Amino acid sequence: MKKELISLVVPCFNEEENIPLFYQETEKIMKSMNMVSFEMIFVNDGSKDHSLLEMKKLRKQDKRVRYISFSRNFGKEAAMLAGLQYAKGDYVAIMDVDLQDPPSLIPEMYRAIMEEGYDCVAAKSVSRHGYSFFRKLFTGWFYKIIAKISNVEMVAGARDFRLMKRKMVDAIIETQEYNRYSKGLFSFVGFDTKWIEFENQERAAGTSKFNFPKLFSYAIEGIVAFSTTPLMISAIFGILFCFIAFVAIIVIIVKTLIWGDPVAGWPSMVCILFFLSGIQLFCTGIMGEYLAKTYLETKKRPIYIVKETEDDC
Ligand code: UDP
Ligand code: MG
Repeated sequence: MKKELISLVVPCFNEEENIPLFYQETEKIMKSMNMVSFEMIFVNDGSKDHSLLEMKKLRKQDKRVRYISFSRNFGKEAAMLAGLQYAKGDYVAIMDVDLQDPPSLIPEMYRAIMEEGYDCVAAKSVSRHGYSFFRKLFTGWFYKIIAKISNVEMVAGARDFRLMKRKMVDAIIETQEYNRYSKGLFSFVGFDTKWIEFENQERAAGTSKFNFPKLFSYAIEGIVAFSTTPLMISAIFGILFCFIAFVAIIVIIVKTLIWGDPVAGWPSMVCILFFLSGIQLFCTGIMGEYLAKTYLETKKRPIYIVKETEDDC
């Protein structure tokens, strides 16, 4: 009987040091799981270092290694989509190349799918050890906010690291949105998911590719993609301020009728003006954010552009 195939999708952006380390560690796991066969798909997301060279070297020594190289940096979300689209496996796992997603969890994930009947087994880190204080703080806030306002479930500490059945992979590929937020998409497509908890690991080498501005825009991406509550909040602000204005008008009319109209209170007027203009711009900004995303979606630009793959060699 033909063995089932597991595809490992590995997005890489400037990871020349980590690629060989990742291969070594994962190779041990692949060897230990001889009941299945493997393919390893490295996605070179426009790296400026020798990542592509490292992938080519590995391809030469092991034909289970495949690679896709983008024409420029399109971001991890695009790299994950490309990997899922190229993967041929009956099961597909997405893994970071920096070994923060321990390959040693794969046998356990596979076992849970085979024996317990899950469609997907995902990893969730119980600590954020290895990340800065501010990153931990803001990530914590982000998950609290998104849990309240989003219409799909987002699990705190969830990583993109997961092993999925082919059916689920196909469902994810079908969501062809341009502004991708995979953690939301995984949850959106449904299927039975088991969560495995693990202690967060330090990066094997190099530094994180997500700085604060990048993470912030990723968080906004997640909120805009999976919730329209911010639009509702701006509408509520509008109604609230109309009500306050209505009460203020009545108070002023009554005051004028009783005590006349001495000119006073322009400093308070300026404060109110600034405050309300701020709120208005804030709400326009929220609407602009949704409009911008809609604008990008309607252009239907490709999510990534491939420059070469292992077939071009
Ligand atoms: N990555 C990518 N494109 C990017 C940024 C990151 O393919 O534009 C890859 C990166 O090489 C790594 C994974 O995504 O394999 C996770 O990135 P990183 O470790 O920097 O994120 P963190 O662990 O800090 O969240
Ligand atoms: Mg990492």
